Amino acid sequence: MHRIGLIGGLSWESSALYYHLLNQGIATRLGGAHSAECVLYSVDFAEIEAMQSSGRWADAGRRLAQAAQSLEAAGADFVLICTNTMHKVYDDVQAAVSIPLLHLGDATAAAVRAAGLTRVGLLGTAFTMEQAFYRDRLEQHGLTVFVPGEEDRQRVPSVIYDELCHGIVRPESRAAYREIIGRLMDEGAQGIILGCTEIELLISQQDSPLPVFPTTQIHVEAALDRALTAADR
Ligand code: GLU
Repeated sequence: MHRIGLIGGLSWESSALYYHLLNQGIATRLGGAHSAECVLYSVDFAEIEAMQSSGRWADAGRRLAQAAQSLEAAGADFVLICTNTMHKVYDDVQAAVSIPLLHLGDATAAAVRAAGLTRVGLLGTAFTMEQAFYRDRLEQHGLTVFVPGEEDRQRVPSVIYDELCHGIVRPESRAAYREIIGRLMDEGAQGIILGCTEIELLISQQDSPLPVFPTTQIHVEAALDRALTAADR
């Protein structure tokens, strides 16, 4: 089994889900007492959030690059950046290490294509929904990406940062997300990318008339495939 490096704390609520799903996935695939061989570098999210909101992305890239270097030094064979948003600095982090980073957008696009869909709604932070770094990556895989209207693009991230990143799951917020998903469907989306690693703490398939693509689960599946070579399975 290859050793999985995780850059987490973005937020720790979703890192806990990554850790749970990775171990559960290894146990399911290998059976017995098997669990995931992994190293977690968990940052202080307040530090990163301040960099995001003040546009200090180069600083954030350097911070995550240091984390990736620590993971490489700890023997990680590859790394996951456990958040969609911070894929904005993916290239900076990848350039700092000699081990591969599994891009969450690539894994997600592959899952959408495998489901036979091309037109997807995207829910996530304002950075993820509005900036090119994530949408372009999805579009490079042949996807057409729909984002919510302006008012909804404020509501979605406020639930992420004010509630889900603090472990708060409110039925009213779930209802609001369900309505937003309905509006994306009316616009022509065939599926919904839960493009923030905390959203799947709030929304599951039963909340959506369209297939949902939960990015933490998708990233974990990609990591499991990579961690287990054919000989290990
Ligand atoms: N975990 C979130 C994401 O997937 C948001 C937290 C962050 O800003 O990194 O985008």
